[in-house]
Amino acid sequence: MAVAAGTRIGFIGAGQMAEAIAKGLNSAGVVRCDQMIAADVNLGRCQVFQNLGIAICGSNTEVAEGSDVLILAVKPQIVEKVATELKPSLSKNHLLISIAAGVTLVNLQRWAGEARVVRVMPNLPCLVGATAAALSLGSSATQADADLVIKLFDALGKIHVVDEKLLNAVTGLSGSGPGYVFLAIEALADGGVAAGLPRPIALSLAAQTVLGSAKMVLETNKHPGQLKDEVASPGGTTIAGIHELEKMGFRAALMNAVLAATERGEKFS
Ligand code: NAD
Repeated sequence: MAVAAGTRIGFIGAGQMAEAIAKGLNSAGVVRCDQMIAADVNLGRCQVFQNLGIAICGSNTEVAEGSDVLILAVKPQIVEKVATELKPSLSKNHLLISIAAGVTLVNLQRWAGEARVVRVMPNLPCLVGATAAALSLGSSATQADADLVIKLFDALGKIHVVDEKLLNAVTGLSGSGPGYVFLAIEALADGGVAAGLPRPIALSLAAQTVLGSAKMVLETNKHPGQLKDEVASPGGTTIAGIHELEKMGFRAALMNAVLAATERGEKFS
């Protein structure tokens, strides 16, 4: 369902993630492009947003003045500078949604003054309506704010409410996870090519296999271990492949990737 027609969403920073969110909200029919505005220091990025039908403002302050909900989508290292500059234009009528990795609610609230703040950790598949995201509410945010953020991000995939102390773990798993899965898809396709498949067919088979397996986990509600047992017949091909993965420490490699990315996120905090 669409958000109220009068709601204006402003993007501070019109980079990759902002574009994914804006396109996703528009194509889900939740927020129209003419309800969104944006600003970015990079003119090329402004052009991308203009091409989507999203008005570009001359400054971040202008975006704050023209919107009720702000999506702060700049790199974590410059959030303090950008939020501090915005502070005089922000009031308690603004909801500031930060998607910056590792930037805490306490700091956001300090820098952004009166605005109600929420942290969201989405991932890139919001571009295709399949994000995995989590949110944490700042102390001044209301249940209505939570409901709005859930409505926005459920339209882009799936969002969970978590305690802020878990957001770095979310970053390590789903925020960074598309990178791990892209690597896995490329490697599966390489395996297919090594086994004689033409590259385009191998890549399509690999990506569709990951998509289909994920859908089975989500839609059957069966434990992935049970699904694995169901596809591994005695003395068969699948158990032979699984044996190789286990020998190479496949599970430990994925667990370590999540832990390493979580620790890196903690350093930003
Ligand atoms: P990006 O570099 O594509 O976008 C950031 C944009 O901010 C750029 O277009 C840049 O020109 C603009 N910018 C720089 N200084 C500015 C200023 N003073 N005012 C306005 N705009 C300014 O980066 P991204 O990948 O879109 O990441 C944005 C945020 O999203 C980061 O904080 C990141 O932690 C978070 N995030 C990213 C991902 C991901 O997969 N990329 C996932 C989850 C969260």
